[in-house]
This record gives sequence, C-alpha cells and structure tokens, in this order.
Amino acid sequence: MTTSLIGYPRIGAKRELKFAIEKFFKKELSESELETVAKTQRQLNWQTQFAAGIDFIPSNDFSFYDTTLDTAFALNIVPERYQALAISPLEKYFAAARGHQSEAGDVKALAMKKWFNTNYHYMVPEFDDGTVLKLDLSKLLSEYQEALALGITTKPVLIGPYTLLKLIKFTGQSTIATVQDDFVSIYAEVFEKLAAEKIDWLQLDEPALVFDLSAEDIGLVKAIYTPLLAQKKSVKVLLQTYFGDVRDIYTDLVRLDVDGIGLDFVEGRKTAELIETHGFPTDKKLFAGVVNGKNIWRNNYQKTLAILAKLPKDKLIISSSCSLQHVPYTVSAETDLDEKILRHFAFAQEKLQEIKDINVIFYQLETGSLAENKALFDEKRFEADLTVQEKVSGLSSSDYSRTPDFSAREAIQKEVFKLPTLPTTTIGSFPQTADVRKNRLNFKRGDITKAAYDDFNKTKTKEWIDWQEAIGFDVLVHGEFERNDMVEYFGEKLAGYIFTKYAWVQSYGTRCVKPPIVWGDIARVQQLSVADSVYAQSLTDKPVKGMLTGPVTILNWSFPREDISLSESTLQIALAIQEEVLDLEKNGIKIIQIDEAALREKLPLRQTDWDSQYLDWAIPAFRLVHAKVAPTTQIHTHMCYSEFTDIIPAIDAMDADVISFEASRSDLSILDALQENGFRTQTGPGVYDIHSPRIPSLDEIENVIHKLLTKVPLEKLWINPDCGLKTRGVTEVKASLENLVKATQAIRATL
Ligand code: GLN
Ligand code: ZN
Repeated sequence: MTTSLIGYPRIGAKRELKFAIEKFFKKELSESELETVAKTQRQLNWQTQFAAGIDFIPSNDFSFYDTTLDTAFALNIVPERYQALAISPLEKYFAAARGHQSEAGDVKALAMKKWFNTNYHYMVPEFDDGTVLKLDLSKLLSEYQEALALGITTKPVLIGPYTLLKLIKFTGQSTIATVQDDFVSIYAEVFEKLAAEKIDWLQLDEPALVFDLSAEDIGLVKAIYTPLLAQKKSVKVLLQTYFGDVRDIYTDLVRLDVDGIGLDFVEGRKTAELIETHGFPTDKKLFAGVVNGKNIWRNNYQKTLAILAKLPKDKLIISSSCSLQHVPYTVSAETDLDEKILRHFAFAQEKLQEIKDINVIFYQLETGSLAENKALFDEKRFEADLTVQEKVSGLSSSDYSRTPDFSAREAIQKEVFKLPTLPTTTIGSFPQTADVRKNRLNFKRGDITKAAYDDFNKTKTKEWIDWQEAIGFDVLVHGEFERNDMVEYFGEKLAGYIFTKYAWVQSYGTRCVKPPIVWGDIARVQQLSVADSVYAQSLTDKPVKGMLTGPVTILNWSFPREDISLSESTLQIALAIQEEVLDLEKNGIKIIQIDEAALREKLPLRQTDWDSQYLDWAIPAFRLVHAKVAPTTQIHTHMCYSEFTDIIPAIDAMDADVISFEASRSDLSILDALQENGFRTQTGPGVYDIHSPRIPSLDEIENVIHKLLTKVPLEKLWINPDCGLKTRGVTEVKASLENLVKATQAIRATL
C-alpha cells in the first residue's frame, strides 16, 4: 500500500452530475433518478482510481453540493429553519445550500465562503442555540458499501473536528470552547460506527492546520485530538492536511496517536524542512502530497523524486497534494488541442498515472517514464513575445499611480455625472437564458453567421437597456450576452491563452468554471469589448458601464504558467487590459467597471505572507490598468464573497472610484470594518443575494439600505445587487430589481 488520493472530482467528466442536479431543481428529474446519476459517477470515479492502481481510494468525497455541508448534516448542525420545512431530507439539504421558496416556506441559504485559497466555495455551517449534535453516517456508510460491492475498499473522508469548528459560524450562545467536548464525543462515535463496519482507515481533513496558529489554536487541536484518538478503536486515522505546511504545530502533530499524517509538499514551502529538522515518527505512515492537486501541468519527476529521496521510505505513501476536485477530469477529452501541447498537461486522471509512475520509479527503480518526463521539461514550449516582456520590465512607479488623487476625482465626477443620491446600478450580466446560450452555440458550430450572432446579442442588449431605463436605473450595463464567462471571454481574444473543451472545475454547488490556460506571453491583439459597449451607449443618454475583468482575476481564474512568476503573468495581462481601458475611454465610455471578483483568491493563507507574497504585486497590477485614464472617467470595480475585512487598506489602495461587492450573504460585518478604516472608495454593498432564486421584498431591501446607511456615508453609497445576474431567471431578476429601484426611490423620497 504505497499510493493514496485525497479526493476526486465529482461533477462528472461531461458535468453529468451538475446537469442532473439542475434538472432535479427544475423538477424534471426525480430524486431516485438523480441518485442513479450520482451512483454512476461515484462508481466511475472509484473504478478509474482502482484501475490506476491507487491503494488508498477516498469515499464520501462525493457531494451533491459541498462536503462541508455534508459533514454538517452528518453531525446534525442544521438550523431549525431548514429542519422545519415539510420537504424531503435531500430538499432540506438543498434548501440549506441555496435557499428555498415554496408553500413549504421561505428561507435563505447558509452563507457561502471561499474554500481556503481555491476557487471552490463551501457552505458555512451554522451552530445556533437549538443545535444538538446527532450522528447520521448513512451517506458515508452507504457510499463505503457501494464501493465495496464493486470490490473496492475505500477510506472514507470527513472534515476533521478542528477545521469544522474553525469553519462553523456560532450564531447563539455557544462557542468553540463550550462545544469542543461534544465534538470529541461525536467524532468518537464516528470511530465506533466505522469500527463496527470493519472500516480500516478514516481520513480526517484538517486543512485549517496550515494557517498561522496561535498557542490557543494548538491547545485546541491537542484538547480535541488527545481524548478523541484514545477512543479510535480498530479504525486507523489519517490526519490529512493540505494547501500549505503545518510549521506551527508539526512537532505536536507527530506526537498524536494517529496512524498516518498527510502533508503537502507542493504548497507547503516548509514541509520538507520540518521533516528534515524534526524527523518523522516510526509508528506512522507519511502520506506525502507530491503531485499537485491544483495545477494542470505535468509533474516534474526529477524534482519529486528528489523530495521523496529525503523521506523515510518504509513509512511513505505517495499522494496528491490536495483533493483533485480542483482540477478537470481528463486530458484525453481534449481532442481539439495539439499533442505537442497536451503532453504538458495532467488533469485528474493523468495525475493518477503520475502517482503510479513516481511510485514505480521510486520503489522499483524502473526509470522508463523518467526519461520521457525529463525530455518534456527540457522542451521549448512557445516563441516568447519580446515586446511584452520588455514592456513589463520597463514599468516604473509612475505607471502605477493615477492623478489627481481620489478626493479630487470624486469632486470632479460629481459635477460630470450628476447622479442622484444612492445611485442604482447592476453588476454587469443579465440572465444567460437558453436562447442566449443557443445563439452562442450556433455561432460556435458555424450554423449562423457572425452578423446574425451579433444581431441577436444586440437585440438582447437593446431590450435590457430599454428595461433598465424604464425601471429607473441610473447607471446601466449592456448585459454581457456575448460572454460565456468573464475570464474565458477575454482569454479567447488575447494572445498567449489556450482553451479546453471539457476542463471544467466545480466552483460551488452546480456552478462550474472552465479556466483558460496561460500558455505563452499575453498580449492584446484586438479590441476586447469596445464594440459592445459603444453600441449599448448609443441606445441611451444614461451612462452605460464598460465592463472588463481585471488582471488579478483573469490570472486567478486561469491555470497559470509555472515557468514565470504569477506577478509577471499578471503584469502582462494588466498591460493588455490597460490598452482596452484607454480604448473604451477614447470611444466615449465614461464609466468603466473592472471586475476583480477573485482578488482575494490567491491571498496566502498565512497572514505573515500577505504583503510580500501577494498584495505587493496584485494591488499595483490593478492600478496599472486604470492609472492613465482622465479624472472624469469613473472607474468601478467589483469583488465577490468579500471577505476583505482584513485587507481593507489594500482594497482602498486599488484606487478605484467605486466598488460593489457581495455583502448580503456574508453578514454586514464588513461595513463596520469599512467605517473603522475610513474607507474612501464609494461603495455598493450588494443589497440582496443573487446566488439564490428567491425574490427579496421591497421591505427587505429598504431595511438593508437603512442598515447600510448607518455604516456608509449617504454620499458614498451605491445601491446594487451583490453580483452578476447571468445564472438567474428573467422573472426573478426583473421582480428583484424592480424592488431594488423602488426601495431606493422610497428612501430617496424621505431624505
Ligand atoms: N460583471 C460580471 C457579471 O456581472 C461580474 C461577475 C462576478 O463578479 N463574478 O457577471
Ligand atoms: Zn461578483
């Protein structure tokens, strides 16, 4: 037993599960039909891993929505508002995931947050005063049995107690301290149940151990695990960490009575050093995460073998660095790309082969695949674009600062735009309805001409511009009907990118993204958005926002190169977007929104690394994009899942004129932080949650605006939903936005 995997993608190689769940939401599929699709996907996953010769195959890594939510349901950490609904257990689960609105009741979803430093999002479990832990392992056990019936023994996976406690939101009197003993008891009960089923190994995921840990955190880990592990019966426990190293707690972890420890040698900059310095105990297995679970590039076998060479060979299990859920299924589906390119890629299935190759070379000294792998890394992949490289190296500090300063621009823009108090706007996209997607597909297939394709989108834009005017919006958008995705769309027009057909990755629930791949140097070789913006602006006297994606987000939502730094790639993209910004301005677009939805994504997990490893280049890269526009041009930006309470000065330093962000689903605590930090950028905290189909009432929105006004100065507040509306239906969008405008007008009337 020398190879292991932490988790596998679950949406389906052709997104089968995603489509089935969405059909279930639309009542086009029954619960049992959905179960059948799910079962097929699980079986395929296990069989693929089994065929590849993986020894420790995960189970219970499957999820209909999110594994943290699954763990919360398994422990009964489910607020009464969902439990009380007279609907099926699966529907309750989905109600917690995405809200529910029917005769059975009207409830909002749980909060959703970014999963560590990935583009995956987890549901935040809520622990309230009514919460009583109660174990229901039916999902875990039945999936284990399902695999066993195929002749495959798996190691079930659960989120570990420490990480779960850290992710939970305590909404009542309880705190970590008051419930930690109950957590010990319930996880002990897990051991008992697993032992009764003769399950050999359990993987407890503890990624929260890679943060900066305080003495108190370390004490908590010990206080949970010491008594818990004393009750582990016959079950062997793998304490699995990922997304970094465990430098603050390594020496304590190795003393715990676990049977295996999983460490990340890819993102864990200090992992190898920790083992070298402190050694590794003889009574445990070391699950060494050496195959990157986040990138799409081939593993460099020489480098990996050099890492493994220093580890205790008899204890070693070769593993992925994290769950492979963060990478697409298989390179073999990409029939449109040249083999010269494809041979540099390894998606989930190919990573299994890599684990196997490395295992064979390491233990059996068969070096066949090593030579081929070495040749791959010696290969020159593409022709460099020297112009771009020179532009980047020629940048100087003045290229990053916009003049005049923020407050001078704010005064100038007040005069120019003469917007009403509490200006209303939306974030950019309107619903990508079936006809919008069909139009794009027809064009891609060559069934319709470019002119016909454009005409359709123009008609949509005109309809929605007319509608926005009629409803009374102040700053309009063209609707983004030409965009499949806010990153892929730009990538397709830039030099240096390549694209896949099926390389989908789960972002949250049924939402998947297909990140483009940065292959070479990035350059703008054509206009990106000017025609659509100019057309939309020609239809109205109100300002229509130009709509771009910012360089940090483009990079963070791409699969980046690994042969140059992230900062260098980002600056290349920033220069390309800067050209587009100036072109929009030249063509009469007066307000330009540059989305940095994913700004926080690659923020290091350790706060001590924030500036030096990330913010010091990411924030300037954004400034570079808009530094050269006139003071009369208003720059907006937008961020999603804004957990930026702790980086507010950095956000202000982006020097945008206006920022909109998701607030309704997090809670409004961010606003206190804005106030405390004297945030100067004008702000549009989303007044309702667009990630759910429910329609906010007029009263509800008025209340939110009143609340916002207690925190944000009247003259700085914008009113908008919390994100783009592309995934929503037309009816709910129109009803919600009408309420948004009416609520704003009602409040304006009282001022
Ligand atoms: N402008 C984009 C849209 O509205 C922003 C999307 C996002 O923040 N993820 O779709
Ligand atoms: Zn957003």
